[in-house]
Amino acid sequence: MALSIMAKLMFTCIYCLKTEPIVSPSEAHIFPDAMGGVKSTRDTVCKNCNHKINRRFEQAEVAKFSFFQSIWGIKSRRGRIKGVPATVEYEGKRFNISLDEEGLPKTPLVLREKDSKGKNYYSIIGPAPLVEEKQKEIESKIKPISWSEKDLTGIDLPESVIEIASDMARKSLRRLAAKVAYERWGQLRSSVVLDDAQYNNIRNFILKGEEPIVLCGILSDNRLLSGMLNFPTGHHAVVINAHPKSNVLGAFVTFYSLFYFWVILSTNFQAIAAIDDALIEDPQDQKAYFPIFRSNTGNLLVHWDHIVNPFLKNPENVAISSMKFAINKFQTTADEAYGSSGIKHVLAQPITGDERE
Ligand SMILES: [Zn+2]
Repeated sequence: MALSIMAKLMFTCIYCLKTEPIVSPSEAHIFPDAMGGVKSTRDTVCKNCNHKINRRFEQAEVAKFSFFQSIWGIKSRRGRIKGVPATVEYEGKRFNISLDEEGLPKTPLVLREKDSKGKNYYSIIGPAPLVEEKQKEIESKIKPISWSEKDLTGIDLPESVIEIASDMARKSLRRLAAKVAYERWGQLRSSVVLDDAQYNNIRNFILKGEEPIVLCGILSDNRLLSGMLNFPTGHHAVVINAHPKSNVLGAFVTFYSLFYFWVILSTNFQAIAAIDDALIEDPQDQKAYFPIFRSNTGNLLVHWDHIVNPFLKNPENVAISSMKFAINKFQTTADEAYGSSGIKHVLAQPITGDERE
């Protein structure tokens, strides 16, 4: 009698390394769903680990970037995004406002002041429909009232200062970057292959926050930031790289192409051929792209020492200069897109060590 043996590849979780039916697979997004992440898998991460990651740092980090979800109209499956708190500076005064999904104030700014004769006057600033609505509201309460219109074109727009957590070196954000790189790698390779001790460190960093050696830091290499990795603002990207001449399996991860990180997945990796895989996601249009990176001389050999060392030597300085890079890049895009809304969006400047005291 002929014997037939059927081998079935079981689901193995790339974090806890447990297999089905002890654990069950879940839908895991490489970039968080709530950040508009496009690519997901159902054969890399178990429900337990997905839940742990979400609860331990992903949720908190996603909330810190809610401004970008809002301003670029990125909706998660869970629906619309709530208003983003911001402060507006106008004529030397600060006001707290809330921005809607288009980056517009949900309510207009109303300034009540007294002129030299002690007479009250109101200034209403904001998008036209909101200003008109407010105008009617005030008219119904105070009569008689006369209005004069001030054209804001050509003069400095009120600035809305958006506070996002500007400490880019924080561990929870670096864990999120590491998660993106590791899960992308799991997506490219069978999860069975990731059941290897060389990935223990990166797994422990992501799941438990353990960091005997630093495996993820902020990218400060200007040639990469303004060259190969200069993706359009608002796009997420992860690039995985390995080369036969190097033992490092590394990655670059960017959120919104504003905040850039490097990740060392393994320092004991034997690449038979060069690997340079890029995944770029457009959260607004829900599209994924896979461009090919090749240097002129052949495959890309990354000098990881040069990438890693600046952060290891002075993480705070790298964090501040990266935040400034993000602010500048954001400003260029935001000025083009939102200059006509009557409010100019500005990201809060990072606080330096001296200012903190
Ligand atoms: Zn698991």
